[in-house]
Amino acid sequence: MTNQNVIVSDRNPILGSKTITVSVSNSPLFSSPSTYFTFPRRKFLELLEAADKNNNNNNKNNLGAGKIASWVDSMRDSSPTRLRSSSRDSDSDNDEKISWIVRFPSALNMFDKIMNAAKGKQIVMFLDYDGTLSPIVEDPDKAYITHEMREVVKDVALNFPTAIVTGRSIDKVRAFVKLNEIYYAGSHGMDIEGPTNENSYGESNQGVLFQPAREFVPMIEKVVKILEEKTKCIPGAMVENNTFCLSVHFRRVDEKRWAALAEQVKSVLVDYPKLKLTQGRKVLEIRPTIKWDKGQALNFLLRSLGFENSENVVPVYIGDDRTDEDAFKVLREKGQGFGILVSKVPKETNASYSLQDPSQVNEFLKRLVEWKRKTVGEE
Ligand SMILES: [Mg+2]
Repeated sequence: MTNQNVIVSDRNPILGSKTITVSVSNSPLFSSPSTYFTFPRRKFLELLEAADKNNNNNNKNNLGAGKIASWVDSMRDSSPTRLRSSSRDSDSDNDEKISWIVRFPSALNMFDKIMNAAKGKQIVMFLDYDGTLSPIVEDPDKAYITHEMREVVKDVALNFPTAIVTGRSIDKVRAFVKLNEIYYAGSHGMDIEGPTNENSYGESNQGVLFQPAREFVPMIEKVVKILEEKTKCIPGAMVENNTFCLSVHFRRVDEKRWAALAEQVKSVLVDYPKLKLTQGRKVLEIRPTIKWDKGQALNFLLRSLGFENSENVVPVYIGDDRTDEDAFKVLREKGQGFGILVSKVPKETNASYSLQDPSQVNEFLKRLVEWKRKTVGEE
């Protein structure tokens, strides 16, 4: 049995052998270049079965419900920094990783398969920013994109329609990315702009395509001010105004203060029933309750590009966070294109494939550009 990430071999070919050895070869999800795990046969089959079931049983996140304690659990889960020390824990970690990689193989290892499915069709690229194009850093204002990443995103945009879909405001993400060739969907898709054309006088024509939450701007401004005041007493907490939504970053907050922070934020929102709270990687997100998310933004952009009912389009969405799940889910439901989750640790997801970190995203994008140049050359 071969899955491009995971090679399974029976050490003992006798019928009813007790163990199965899994070699994770060339797998970017594991730090060592070639890792072997030996499982009881029954255990491995159980893992595969569970993987199958889970694939058909997507996203059960219930972010709205819950008390502060479950929020803190949720904040911890989506901001993995867990350190496990006992060997029992490490065995169960290995089980978890194997099961996960069987379900969500590396997009680098599956590159040829992915591209075969895209042959003759129009690929449209959707890229999250934080944790996908830039690393998650302590200070969200310093989440810079590398020169190399900027160059490859530019190359991608010259070859495929490309959008950056982020929770940040367009102004902020544009200041990081500094590319005019792409679509920007800021504030979780609530602020969408097309590529900018600079005319010969140096004036730029910024094409605003859609702003479904415009009426919420004054309310967001008000809540930003209240939260800045309220969270002053929690060292490291940082409130960011993303124009149509806002973020409370807890990257620099001591874990012991997470409950207090979640409580503060929730207490403010009691007076604003038209705003809802969700959370992502070390960030609490506050957004208007309108039914609009990164998945809707993806659909909107596909429609704007004329691909609404097209069979000949392959949307590819790369993201690392819970808010990206809305887009992964849309792709899964459409049965079109594929989602790629950026994560070093197993996570429940609606994506189809995985990449470990922004450097692997960079590698994937490079290969995509090379593939395009090659296929154009063949035509
Ligand atoms: Mg992200």
